[in-house]
Amino acid sequence: MTNIIRGKCIDISSEGKGVVKDGKHIYFVDGLFIGEEADIEVKYSRAGVYFGKVKKLYALSKDRIQPKCKVCTACGGCQYQQINYSAQLEYKTKRVKEALSRIGGLKVDVLPCLGMTEPYFYRNKIQMPYGVDRKGNVVYGFFKENSHEIIPVKECVIEDKRASSILWDIKELVKKMNIPIYNEDTGRGILRYVLIRTSYHYNELMVVLVTSTLNFPGQRNFVDTLTKLHPEITTIVENVNSRHTNVILGQSEKVLFGPGYIKDKILDLTFEISTSSFYQVNPIQVEVLYKKALNLVDFNKKPVVLDAYSGVGTIGLIASRNASKVISVEINKDASRNAKENAKRNNVNNIEFYCDDASDFIERYSDPLDIVIMDPPRKGSDERFLSVLMNKKVTQIIYISCNPETLARDLKYLSKQYSVDYVQPVDMFPMTAHVETVVGLYLKK
Ligand code: SAH
Repeated sequence: MTNIIRGKCIDISSEGKGVVKDGKHIYFVDGLFIGEEADIEVKYSRAGVYFGKVKKLYALSKDRIQPKCKVCTACGGCQYQQINYSAQLEYKTKRVKEALSRIGGLKVDVLPCLGMTEPYFYRNKIQMPYGVDRKGNVVYGFFKENSHEIIPVKECVIEDKRASSILWDIKELVKKMNIPIYNEDTGRGILRYVLIRTSYHYNELMVVLVTSTLNFPGQRNFVDTLTKLHPEITTIVENVNSRHTNVILGQSEKVLFGPGYIKDKILDLTFEISTSSFYQVNPIQVEVLYKKALNLVDFNKKPVVLDAYSGVGTIGLIASRNASKVISVEINKDASRNAKENAKRNNVNNIEFYCDDASDFIERYSDPLDIVIMDPPRKGSDERFLSVLMNKKVTQIIYISCNPETLARDLKYLSKQYSVDYVQPVDMFPMTAHVETVVGLYLKK
């Protein structure tokens, strides 16, 4: 279906699309911002909402700027690159405020979203599919939204600058050495993805070659040439993913060069990062986020702290320095194992790790708990978990959320017994519509 309508953008959706209404329908439009008017090409509809893109712009937002990235509109990863950074931050603050009031029924102060001084080139993790275009050229980049067509990207402006020349040189080497690129339709070929992880605090950089089979031809030569070209690479890992799937990483791995992991630091603690570890992608803003969260904790009484949805244990390990004890719960086995290793590496002894579902765990846990720091995934927490906190009368809850809508739902539930005293959005993902929020809740007297 394709038809064109003319409309005015009155709001921004939670996915960062411009919202247009025409009396009958609601349209979500890529790259259209509040106050702008445009001809909109309507592409498809889902659950009663129409989705489209800008065909011709008439009235432009005063916040509109020239995006740094040439493929910004085709790629779709950066919903906000076409508006200036202060407007991006305002949109994020507004999203949190509106979610809390609309979904949470809460009228609370929301502090202005904390942004970065330099909001580009921040990501420490980049993963790109390699493919062959219609002319037979090797390309790499991002999949176009809802498709498997690769949009070639030479320099992604939100990713660590060190990654782009490595990705380019891998492409050149692959061509020179005739390493076959994987074909998603036929399942033939070898190289599927390249993933690069960079350390912010150490001179360490990891390249992961995701391949369909182990030991591709010329592997030794490939590794030698690449590490000579890029001495900044400290480790190369081959990850084998032979399945026909959208999941990037497979189960088996072989270290081709270096130790197989890199290290990085958050607030003076060192963490080991392997190919699949969950690790916050913005090394500068993670410190801002964690500081804001931990500043809320009343450490005076040496509390027992629960770090729920703990990932590789970062927040709990930092909190452990001032707590009497930290209990850390994480469902993912690898992350939980990494968390234990991270405790050893940093000589932390007052932390216990449980690999479990947070709700199952807390229902069974009968020892006293003073403070809960929770950082659930996008779908938020659940009533089982939250009701136990209320029954236990935990004095303070610090909720870190990457999704204002599920946060608002959970706060509505908790607000029966807790006052929401502090709401601080933090911009972990400049140029995108995502926003992280730190919330401080206190047991009502
Ligand atoms: N606090 C960490 C990780 C946050 S991401 C950090 O700042 O780095 C959310 C984490 O919750 C992920 O590691 C995910 O594996 C975990 N998780 C998801 N569902 C869970 C559940 N039901 N119980 C416990 N952990 C869960």
